[in-house]
Amino acid sequence: MDFNDTPEEAAFRAEARTWLSSVAAPRDTRTSFAIGQETGEFEAEFPAQRVWQQKKYDAGFGAIYFPQDVGGRGGTSLQNMTFMQEEARFDVPVTAHFMIVNRGCCSLLMKHGTPEQKALIPATLRSDLIWCQLFSEPAAGSDLAGLRTRAEKDGDDWVVNGQKIWTSNAQMADWGVLIARTDSNVPKHKGLTFFIVDMKSAGIERRPIKQLTGASNFNEVFFNDLRIPDAHRVGAVGEGWRVAVAFLSGERTNIAIKELMPLIGGIVNLARQTEINGRPAIEDGEVRARIASFYIREAGVRFTVQRMLTALSRGETPGPEITIGKYTLANLVQEMTAFALDLQHAAGAVMSPAFAPFDAVFQSEWFGSVIDRLGGGTDEVLKNVVGERILGLPEDIRVDKTMPFNQVGK
Ligand SMILES: Cc1cc2nc3c(=O)[nH]c(=O)nc-3n(C[C@H](O)[C@H](O)[C@H](O)COP(=O)(O)OP(=O)(O)OC[C@H]3O[C@@H](n4cnc5c(N)ncnc54)[C@H](O)[C@@H]3O)c2cc1C
Repeated sequence: MDFNDTPEEAAFRAEARTWLSSVAAPRDTRTSFAIGQETGEFEAEFPAQRVWQQKKYDAGFGAIYFPQDVGGRGGTSLQNMTFMQEEARFDVPVTAHFMIVNRGCCSLLMKHGTPEQKALIPATLRSDLIWCQLFSEPAAGSDLAGLRTRAEKDGDDWVVNGQKIWTSNAQMADWGVLIARTDSNVPKHKGLTFFIVDMKSAGIERRPIKQLTGASNFNEVFFNDLRIPDAHRVGAVGEGWRVAVAFLSGERTNIAIKELMPLIGGIVNLARQTEINGRPAIEDGEVRARIASFYIREAGVRFTVQRMLTALSRGETPGPEITIGKYTLANLVQEMTAFALDLQHAAGAVMSPAFAPFDAVFQSEWFGSVIDRLGGGTDEVLKNVVGERILGLPEDIRVDKTMPFNQVGK
């Protein structure tokens, strides 16, 4: 693979840089290096993130790899990556988590949606509409196919009852993607159906969960006789698992393509300003070795992700790169931010922006870093994927895989 820009890629990069310079100031990399883990500032940051997404969209940079007929630029995933690299040089809001979900919903509707459902895509790409992902339940996270929310057919509607949890952004969402059980007489993966849900419908109760950061990014969501028209079903009845798997793979891809260089630059600056044994930390051999190791691993993830993007832009389905990229990146961010807290000595334990170095950005990014190790598949689940599908190891034990769902636990 050639990592230099082709003439076309260089032209795109120049166009992106010119536009960014016309709407934003360069980022001061000495003080600004947040990479946008979900943090305690979430609700305050949301309006600015939304406005920035709308601005990018209107300029042709907000939906780069989506086709023009659904409101995208009709560009490539590689161009998207190039734009992200350029964007990281400017003082603009970081890419919001809601856009990961929004993009996932758009990819899904493009592939499986009816014309009426596809009509929601442009407003979603522009972030005029916010979506949430109603998958996980109290007893169905990693084992998502074990979910118990029921959808029963009643005339032209489905009547839904049950509970979801960890639903990010549900409190502000206009629409949701939902997976529910429509047949309990067949094995768990086979009796599921996928829907889109108008979150303003009667029968939906959202309860924000207070997190340790003080924010409430995610919610419990309860359905009490929620009615969903059959026109809002996505894919065939009983085919919901296949649709959900495609959605989750998109989520992993988006987590894996985070731009980490600002964070590494921030750690270098921090090491220049803090001391170990009366000398700048940056002069300490062990500190330098750790930072070098972050650079090397960041490069490893970046190149792995580029293989994935190359496959995507050739219209192929990426292979294990997604799982490896997501797993490595999530762990690397947590390790880097923990290292930054260690460098701050006792101040590392201070959350207040008024007292902690760099307005406590490392602290909030560290709190946020655990999220990517869970969302879109936990580390252990991803390792199972690598073990089974890449290394060909024996399968995890799944005693209920072929059993009718209504017999599980009896
Ligand atoms: C911040 C945040 C935001 C989220 N947002 C959303 C959202 O918007 N929508 C949504 O639907 N969900 C969301 N989730 C839920 C997320 O997808 C789940 O947390 C995740 O799938 C894990 O499920 P669980 O929490 O039920 O843990 P469990 O599945 O109960 O896992 C508990 C532990 O057991 C391990 N484990 C489980 N199964 C295996 C196995 N077979 N082999 C080895 N180890 C195993 C796990 O790795 C984990 O360490 C969010 C989660 C977080 C933390």
